Amino acid sequence: MTMLQNDGDQRRPVHKFGGSSLADAACFHRVAGIIHNLAQPDALIVVSAPGKTTNRLIELLSLFTSGDSAAPEALEGLHGFQRNLIETTLDEENGAPLLAALDDDIQTIAAVLEQSRLDDHQRSLIQSFGEVWSSRLLARLLAGQGLPAASLDARRFLLVSGSPVQVDEAESRRRLGAILAEHQDRILVVTGFIAADAQGRTRLLGRNGSDFSATLLASLADSSHATIWSDVPGVFSADPRRVKEARLLTRLSLPEAAELARLGSPVLHSRTLGPVAASRQQLMLRCSYHPDDGHTRIQRQPQRAQGARIVTAVDDAVLLEMSIPARYQETVDALTDWLARRELAPLACKRRPERQLWQITYTREQAEQAFSLLRDHQPAGGFEGLQQREGFSLVALVGKGVTAQAEQCLHFYHALNEQPLEFIQPAKNGLSLVAVVRKVVLDPLLLRLHQSLFSRPRRVGLVLFGRGNIGQAWLRLYREQKARLEQELNVQLSLYGVFDSRGGMLASQGLEVEQVLNDFQPRSIVWPDWLEDLEEHGFDSLVALDFTASEALVQHYPALVQRHVHLIAANKHGGAAEQAFYLRLKQSLAEHRVQFLSNATVGAGLPVQTAIHQLRHSGEQIRVISGLFSGTLSWLFQHFDGSQPFSELVLQAWQQGLTEPDPREDLNGQDVKRKLVILAREAGFDLDPAKVRVSNLVPESLAALDRERFIDRLDELDQPLAEALAQAREEGGVLRHVARFDTHSGEASVGLEVVAGEHAFAHLRPGDNVFAIETQHYRQNPLVIQGPGAGREVTAAAMQADLWQLLTTL
Ligand code: ASP
Ligand code: MG
Repeated sequence: MTMLQNDGDQRRPVHKFGGSSLADAACFHRVAGIIHNLAQPDALIVVSAPGKTTNRLIELLSLFTSGDSAAPEALEGLHGFQRNLIETTLDEENGAPLLAALDDDIQTIAAVLEQSRLDDHQRSLIQSFGEVWSSRLLARLLAGQGLPAASLDARRFLLVSGSPVQVDEAESRRRLGAILAEHQDRILVVTGFIAADAQGRTRLLGRNGSDFSATLLASLADSSHATIWSDVPGVFSADPRRVKEARLLTRLSLPEAAELARLGSPVLHSRTLGPVAASRQQLMLRCSYHPDDGHTRIQRQPQRAQGARIVTAVDDAVLLEMSIPARYQETVDALTDWLARRELAPLACKRRPERQLWQITYTREQAEQAFSLLRDHQPAGGFEGLQQREGFSLVALVGKGVTAQAEQCLHFYHALNEQPLEFIQPAKNGLSLVAVVRKVVLDPLLLRLHQSLFSRPRRVGLVLFGRGNIGQAWLRLYREQKARLEQELNVQLSLYGVFDSRGGMLASQGLEVEQVLNDFQPRSIVWPDWLEDLEEHGFDSLVALDFTASEALVQHYPALVQRHVHLIAANKHGGAAEQAFYLRLKQSLAEHRVQFLSNATVGAGLPVQTAIHQLRHSGEQIRVISGLFSGTLSWLFQHFDGSQPFSELVLQAWQQGLTEPDPREDLNGQDVKRKLVILAREAGFDLDPAKVRVSNLVPESLAALDRERFIDRLDELDQPLAEALAQAREEGGVLRHVARFDTHSGEASVGLEVVAGEHAFAHLRPGDNVFAIETQHYRQNPLVIQGPGAGREVTAAAMQADLWQLLTTL
């Protein structure tokens, strides 16, 4: 499991766990694990009742009030369930005080239920116990595991009045402030769902109210972040249980979320979003069962209008109808207000002034309440003939600007017209298009809508860094292969941006390859300012291709990852970065579900990383990775047989362009070290580059010279190498520059080794790379991959292969 990525400093972050995340002992332990990983000693945890406890409490109330003989048994059942939950979650010592408290609570409940008539407060009191039990149990579990945790009953600070419930924010904030000040570095596990009135009596926040508790708490505590953990990772483009291809939306704007909630989405409730809009908290939805399965972030910055993003439905909707004999518009406006003030804004309304008719739609749960309130309000409200018609469903598209997207509207009308349609209503704010139909089996309709709206090719924007040899070779390759890739993978590719050392060009409509190759006119850019532009790109995905050798660019990888930009690199400085940076990067990649491919960094086009990757994921234990990873050094040592001094070979190689412009870059072993680190990490070992032993072939006396002087004094390399060669001969072997990582001892080295004459490293074509991978099954006889490990075309091809690989998984 990855750690929650910290967007800068989090202050008193709120994390809310729902009933399904707390259904049994395993769930409680899973949640405790998540809280450990947060590493936030001041987190505020909000909990719902365990599993279906609230439902059971409500059932209990109805059994007792109706005098049902099964009532005592139901209470005993509930007692048994909670007892078992405590006993299976905690050890005996930690569980004992909780069991005693539970017995007390059960007695309290029994005593309250004894009474002949219960008032609202007593009914609320009974229902409050689920949350109390959750918070106590979780706090104790955390404390038992050594975290500074305590439970907090929300009735101690959350003050409410009226109906529907109004929060006294000023007083609640004051009380909470005092409690928090007292518990600065403590994880508080707070009861959701419940509050108190001025007399300290229990009030409830409504069914599923603990999401509201969470965002409310975040607002009162001025928290920077709130996360709602449930059994789904967030908001999908459609209900994934009904529409298989539904996609998780990683970002949703606050108005879109509010519209979705208003339309009855079970993932988000309208009330939950109120405090979000009114405070600075950053809201995220995540899944407690699979924390790494992505998330939805609710964004407050206005988003570009993309039209429909979600198809949503309410299966069981009820239509209320009334006739309005006079002053039609005014009366409807007034009624709309009147309902909104009672938190009963309808899902959809249809004005039919020509028939003096007003139709409004509710979910079944809300319809009853709306109906009875409206019935009492007529005729004072200016309407008559209120009727309730059952057996409807609602289908809607949600997304900023959907009503202005002609094509999407057309699809929608088209699909709905084939149904028993009552009406279609575009929202005034442009956020939704709602249809009310007579009840049908909705699944085929949802599927069809989802397909016609969202199965368009994914638009992928490519951002290129570096226009050198390899970059240019890749551009030509891209030009050749673009159409085929697009067709095979159902994507639409654009060259969104290109950067070189002078600056960059960015064009959301895409740049032409020709222009980039022949007429590149960059404007100068300022990091990280231009990253802001990336926020508004309008592509479904962005991929950065790093063809540079720039360490500075790698420093910006985290910023790219945070913006969900995938990375493909020929640049070794990322994969071989120093340990702390690399580990943070890796964590952030997992958190943002961003991919980082770097098959071009080692062995160019040779499938070395792919092989390691496959061995690793097939469960093979990789034992040793070794080989000759440098084409230059391979060439030098294949030719170094004593017939001429080493320096002469270096000079030849340099003159033929087989070395880096400064041959010391090859001879100092640093480049090989980077490759070794990348491979080790690929194999699943966090090899720290600082721990690799590298023997430098360049004597210290030559290290600091300028290049000319170094070339003049090349012969100073010769003596130690001549001695090494003589020694190798004596041992009956040859001299090779070998990189080696032993996964067992963790030892890693780069330098000269004497290799036996029949060894795979002894006979190579000069310049070839060789990689040997020893595993438990390839032990005596390691897996060997050998071939040209450098070159412009093969490296560009490796980048292209990575791109293909990435696109298949998007
Ligand atoms: N336990 C309460 C309910 O079931 C509150 C919640 O789960 O959010 O409605
Ligand atoms: Mg719940």
